[in-house]
Amino acid sequence: MKDILSLPRLPLGVYPTPFYKLENISAKYGKNIWIKRDDLCGVALGGNKVRKLEFLLADAKAQGCDTVFTTGGAQSNHAMLTAACAARLGMQCILPLKKRGVTEHKGNLILDDIYGAQVKFIDTDKYDDIYAEMDRMSAELAKEGRKAYHIPVGGSTPLGALGYVNCVREFTAQAQDAGIQIGHIVSATGSGGTTAGLLLGAKLYQPGVKVTGMGVDDDPFEEIVPTLAAGAAELLDTPFERTPDDFQMVYHLGQGYAIPNAEDTPYIEELARMEGILLDPVYTGKAWTGMLKLLQEGYFDGQDNIVFVHTGGAAALFAMNLPR
Ligand SMILES: *Cc1c(COP(=O)(O)O)cnc(C)c1O
Repeated sequence: MKDILSLPRLPLGVYPTPFYKLENISAKYGKNIWIKRDDLCGVALGGNKVRKLEFLLADAKAQGCDTVFTTGGAQSNHAMLTAACAARLGMQCILPLKKRGVTEHKGNLILDDIYGAQVKFIDTDKYDDIYAEMDRMSAELAKEGRKAYHIPVGGSTPLGALGYVNCVREFTAQAQDAGIQIGHIVSATGSGGTTAGLLLGAKLYQPGVKVTGMGVDDDPFEEIVPTLAAGAAELLDTPFERTPDDFQMVYHLGQGYAIPNAEDTPYIEELARMEGILLDPVYTGKAWTGMLKLLQEGYFDGQDNIVFVHTGGAAALFAMNLPR
C-alpha cells in the first residue's frame, strides 16, 4: 500500500481541523458525540471540498492546466471552494452551474464573484448537458492555447475521495491523543466522494468502525459510495473488501435536494445555541438531524464516541431562510 502522504497534494487548507467532544449535546442526548470541524479548514467559509481539491488541483497543475471547470447547483459550495482554490493557484475558474435553486446574487454566488470565477447558468436538470457544455467551452479555449481541467460535480472522483481518506488518517491521530475509541462515523452524502473516502479511511485507519452516510439527495449511494471507495483504494494500491454492515446509507431528504426541511430547524438552532456551531439547511443540517433521529431510535446502541464530520456549507444560511 502507498502512504497517502506520498501522493501529489497541494496544501490548500489549514489542517488539522479541530476534533473535540460536543459536551452539551453529549449530555443532552446521553451519548458521547464528537465533531470533526472541516467547516474550519481555512478557505472561504470552509467545507469538505477543500480536501478533495488538494488532490484534484495537484493533478490539474501536474497536467499543466491553466483553467478549471466544475459545476453544481447555483448555490454550490463545491463550485465556490473550487473558485477560491483555483484563484490562489493562479488558475482561471469557470463555473457552468445548474440554473436551479437560489440564482439571485446571494450566498455562494457572491463569493464566486469575490474569487473571480466566471459563472454561467445552464438551464437543464442533467449534468450530462453541463459536461457537454464544458467540453464545448474547453475546445474554444484550446484554440487559444489554454488547457482546462474538468472536475465533475462535488469533486467526487476516486482521486477526490482520497481527501476523506486523509481526513480519517488525521482524526485517528486526534482520537488517539484524546484517548478515545471511535464507535461510528457519520456525514452528509451529496455526491458520494466524502462518504467513500470516510469508508475507505475507516477500513485503513479505524478497522471495524462503521460509516453511515446521510443522503441529502436521492442518488443510489449504496452503489456509488463503494464504487468510489474501491477506485480510491486502487490509487493507494490497497485492496477494498466489503464486510457486512461496514457502511450504511440512510436518507434524510425531506422534500428533496436543496429544499430546507422545517423539521431540521430546531436541531440547527439547538446546535448553534448549545455549542456555537452553524449548520446549513442543505447538507449538514439534514445530516445532523438525521443522525440525532437515528440516535433516538437506538441505531447507535452499544456504540460510543460517534463522530460527526462537519462538511461546511454556511453560505447557504445567507441565501435561504430556515423554514418552520
Ligand atoms: C458537497 C457537500 C457535502 C457532500 O459531500 P459529497 O462528497 O458531495 O457527498 C456535504 N456537505 C456540504 C456542506 C457540501 O458542500
